[in-house]
Amino acid sequence: MNFESLKHLEHEHVMQTYGRFDLAIDHGQGSLLYDLQGNEYIDMTSGIGVNALGHNYLPLVQAIQNQATKILQASNLFYTEPMVDVAQKLNQASGMKKVFFANSGAEANEGMIKIARKYSWDHYHDENRLVILTLKQSFHGRTIATLEATGQDHFHQNFFPFTNGFDYIPANDMQALQNYFATHKIAGLMMELVQGESGVRPLDPQFVCEAAKLCQQHDVLLMIDEVQTGIGRTGKFFAYQHYGIEPDLVSCAKGLGGGVPIGAVLANTKCQDVLQAGDHGTTFGGNPLAASAARVVIDTVSAPEFLNDVQDKGTWFMDELKKLNLSKVKDVRGLGLMIGIEVAPEEVMNDLTKLRQKGILALKAGTATIRFLPPLIIEKQQLQTVLDVCKEVLG
Ligand SMILES: *Cc1c(COP(=O)(O)O)cnc(C)c1O
Repeated sequence: MNFESLKHLEHEHVMQTYGRFDLAIDHGQGSLLYDLQGNEYIDMTSGIGVNALGHNYLPLVQAIQNQATKILQASNLFYTEPMVDVAQKLNQASGMKKVFFANSGAEANEGMIKIARKYSWDHYHDENRLVILTLKQSFHGRTIATLEATGQDHFHQNFFPFTNGFDYIPANDMQALQNYFATHKIAGLMMELVQGESGVRPLDPQFVCEAAKLCQQHDVLLMIDEVQTGIGRTGKFFAYQHYGIEPDLVSCAKGLGGGVPIGAVLANTKCQDVLQAGDHGTTFGGNPLAASAARVVIDTVSAPEFLNDVQDKGTWFMDELKKLNLSKVKDVRGLGLMIGIEVAPEEVMNDLTKLRQKGILALKAGTATIRFLPPLIIEKQQLQTVLDVCKEVLG
């Protein structure tokens, strides 16, 4: 099918919820993507932080093919080996204790929220101690509850009423954090450690450590949303491992299946048994197909050499970019291979288009940030090409 017919049919049959780039992806290889006309691009999007191992990564493809000949879905009424394997590997990589499998990031966050509320209710029986605190400029998903958890008003419009189960403070505001804990009773604090969707903003380590300390003092669950930052994206298996904190709950999704939808909630000793039979569930969660993919991703990404390589490439890229001193660039931020380049708000879309015309696919974050989330396996040579193009477009 040619591009124009595809676009036409999409407009006719698909709800117009996305502002799509003017491009149809056909296939990929490694860190390269090819459109319907056969044009080649360096993929700095990886399906929004999903294709951690790039495209057509042989061990991943083979694992999926092999699993497809055995069984795709069995339901959680039965024991299945790939799922149990993935749970064990996630616990080993994180030091957490038990896993609940979901199918997406929002769903994983819903699971965390349910655990936090049930934990608080079980221990305190206080209906005024069930609110989840989140940060302004956060992003936690698109279900009604995770939308409410998202600390950005413009996402809330059109979808009232909410459940009043969430409250917000500004990120990195130590005073607001301390005041809030001194004056409110809450069940949990949920946050991203690098706010992705709103502009690639790493949180201050001091703020994060103070938050962890206050949570512990008040028996408030520390819930880290690692949907975007997890599975090696920042150069550690989970981003919280940079901050020296011990979360009670961690959610992950995006990179976990390497392109196959899967999400997970990880719980520590304190929270591992909060949910009991019948408290929570999902038809597809942890299905053999998704789990067989996640198994390969975790095995590959959790190797120390792999994680060090991600960190080295990310640091090198950001240093080189800063050294270029490009006139349009206002700030370069990030951690590992989660990189944001702040430009003028009125220019960001135009810059993305120019990058695309020169063979680089990138994302937007917030109102003024170019976001790079390349496959974690991207080669330094390819990153050098991206730098060269940035120099032309943003100079
Ligand atoms: C993408 C994202 C989500 C939502 O994940 P979905 O799989 O789209 O439901 C939640 N939290 C963060 C931090 C994300 O980046």
